Order: sequence, then structure tokens, then C-alpha cells
Amino acid sequence: MASPLMPAAFLGHGSPMNALERNRYTEAWRTFGASVPRPRAILVVSAHWYVNVTAVTAMPRPRTIHDFFGFPQALFDVQYPAPGLPELADEVAEVAKPDFVGADPDVWGLDHGTWSVLVHAFPDADIPVVQLSINASKPAQFHIELGARLAALRERGILVLGSGNVVHNLRAIDWKQPDAAFDWNDRFDAAAKQMLAERPGDAVALMRHADFAAAAPTDEHFLPLLYLAGIAAASGKGADVLVEGPAYGSLSMTSYTVGAKCPPDSAITAGAAPLSADVPPDQTNL
Ligand code: ZN
Repeated sequence: MASPLMPAAFLGHGSPMNALERNRYTEAWRTFGASVPRPRAILVVSAHWYVNVTAVTAMPRPRTIHDFFGFPQALFDVQYPAPGLPELADEVAEVAKPDFVGADPDVWGLDHGTWSVLVHAFPDADIPVVQLSINASKPAQFHIELGARLAALRERGILVLGSGNVVHNLRAIDWKQPDAAFDWNDRFDAAAKQMLAERPGDAVALMRHADFAAAAPTDEHFLPLLYLAGIAAASGKGADVLVEGPAYGSLSMTSYTVGAKCPPDSAITAGAAPLSADVPPDQTNL
């Protein structure tokens, strides 16, 4: 039986505390998760698995990784016990050719870039989850082209998710302004929105934008967006905004979908609440 064409998404994950909170972003992730056909598996490209190799997790029971410090114990207590799907590693390697993708049977697992959004999008944790690393040694164009090849997995019931942030500058973060944006944050987020809507296949050009250096002093949170841009380009359509907005001055929480049927940002109001601002300033690895 043919699978329905699976949507794809890029989710702006922001603070790990979003795993514990209910706010307009987490509600949007929930709306997205509830709107998609049940996936055979979820393949996540997370900002927090940024290594010098392209690898895919291939363990039957991936561990929940708490890859941060300085947060409340409740966040360390979160478990996302979704199974893995070891055989998916072969399928990912096949569609990724000629790029090489190695199988990781025992090193990684599910980092917080993955589980902080999946606890909302798929709260039952009963769908297999596999992570794909971001190969830090490759040029930007590699990621958009690999994303375009991963689009073939949409026909096989695989939900491909990028998890990062379009704008992510931890040095500039202002914990006192949970819903504010610096000017350069607004400008870059708007430029990304236009690019993703109109010319997703050219999204690498965003890295030459005048505000890119401020928006992404390191590129690991931006690169997952290029995977969705590649998927959008492969579909011949632009990406749709799922929810948008800034956080703490220097983060963008904007999320995008391809092929999804869920209401736009303005329709997402259930449970709306401001982002929590009661987080200390010494946290790292958001
Ligand atoms: Zn992060």
C-alpha cells in the first residue's frame, strides 16, 4: 500500500525549557504533529549533533541525551522513550548516495534538539525516531543537496524534521526580554522567510546576508533549515510558516513546513502563554 506523501518541517526549538512549557510555539508543534499522517518513522536533523561525519542513529532503543547544564532537575528528568528503527539507516544511506552516511549503532541517541520538540509534536513517543548528524566538515551547499535527496523518504512514510533556530546568537541573548528581537534578528528572520517562500533552493545565499554573522555566529542551528529548504526545492514549492516570532532578543522561533495541512500562526491560540523568562543567564547549549 502506498504511503501518503509525508510533510516535512523545520522547528525552531529555542530554550530546552520549551520541553516543559506550553506556549504558542509548543502549541504550533503540537498542531503540526496532530496534522500529519502517522509516520513510519521520524528522521530528525538536530543542531545538537554537529560532528565531522554524516551519520544516522541505528540503535533499537535510543537513549534520551540531556546535552545541557544549568537547567532545573525537571528537565534532566525528561525521558523520550521512542524506539529507534535500525533498518532505516540503510534506506537513508541509499537515498543519500553519492554522499556517504554511516550507521551509528551505539554512540548518539536523541538529543534535546530532538526530544524538546517531539515531547509536544508526538507526545506518545510511540513512533520510531532516528537522528541524522550535521556534517560540520561540509560546505553549506552539501546540506541543501542532501536535504533534497532526503525528500524521497517522504514517499516512504518518513517524517523529516530539522530542529534548530533560524537566528541563534547566545552571546547576545537577553533573558529579560522573552518576546523581543534585536533589529538584525528581525531583518534576518524576514529575509529567511522570503527566501524559504520564494526561492528555497537558493537558501544558501542567506549565509551572505549582511546580518548572517550576527544571526548565526556559529552555523549549527541554521544548517537544519537548509535540509527543509532542500526538501521544499525538491517539491517545487516554497515552505510555509508554521509559527513565527523572536525570543530573548537574539533567537528566532520561526518554524516552517512543507506539504503540511495545519492552520497558520494566527489560528494557533489554544493555550497561548508567554515564554517563561525565569531562567538564569548562565545556561549553555540551547
Ligand atoms: Zn539548540
